[in-house]
Amino acid sequence: MVYVHLDKQNGDSAAMGEKLDQISNQIGLINQKYEKLDSVLHRNTSCFFVLFCSIIVVFFVIIFSISHSNIQPLESGHFITQSLIGDSIDTWLSWKLSDSERIFHVHIINHAKTSQKNIDLIKESIMSEKIIEINDLDTHKGTSKNSSKFYKGWQGVLNEFDSLELRYNIPIRLHVHESTSDDGDILILLVDEKNSEGYSGYTRSIIDEDKNQILKSRITIYESSKLDGNRLAAITRHEMGHALGLQHSTDPDDLMYYKITTTNPFISECDVSALKSLYGGETMSKFLCEK
Ligand SMILES: [Zn+2]
Ligand SMILES: [Zn+2]
Repeated sequence: MVYVHLDKQNGDSAAMGEKLDQISNQIGLINQKYEKLDSVLHRNTSCFFVLFCSIIVVFFVIIFSISHSNIQPLESGHFITQSLIGDSIDTWLSWKLSDSERIFHVHIINHAKTSQKNIDLIKESIMSEKIIEINDLDTHKGTSKNSSKFYKGWQGVLNEFDSLELRYNIPIRLHVHESTSDDGDILILLVDEKNSEGYSGYTRSIIDEDKNQILKSRITIYESSKLDGNRLAAITRHEMGHALGLQHSTDPDDLMYYKITTTNPFISECDVSALKSLYGGETMSKFLCEK
């Protein structure tokens, strides 16, 4: 019985032993699992830590780039504004004219073999009252949606001064004809010589003793017979700008740029505004173009 019992007990104890073994195995397994779990937890914790750090880093990168980008557009905006209003024309001196002298004689003296057709184009560049609209895209002043006003001749420009009350008098009527004498307010000399410094046209003005007003201007156009009519007209338009008191523009698309590079060599609104500013009293100054 005992044996049985024992057996039983033994059997029981054997079963117990098995159970204990199983338990300790399970504990071992649990421990292993725990260890795994623990390492997983460790890994997760370090994952969370890395994630947390990444978030902090990303957060600061975003903050930095926001504050950085807050500065950048302001700076580029500043430079864009600068370049938009950057073009200017230097004004020189106004003419010394009494109220009764506002009709100007422009005399063309042809020392070259310039054709009549080309002389007529020179006259047109002075006497035309025609206004042309040119797309802003063509003159790099804006988009194709807008256009700007240009004057084909100086008479068209001077018409605008007729109703203005300015500090100094500007001629309001031009009278142009061919001549052999050098009387006249503005002389245009057409010569076949080449200028030693490479100029196509050159304007010299006689100024008063106080050196603040123009008394007479002489324009020389070099190698005149070789130039085609449109080029002659463009040079005349540019030199007439000097004769009336303008200096050069910083805009390569403007007639008053130091060399004529534009395909639209007509008198711009900025040239006209600069002239209004000059005769308004702003001599020897820098006039800023609106576009
Ligand atoms: Zn005359
Ligand atoms: Zn010039």
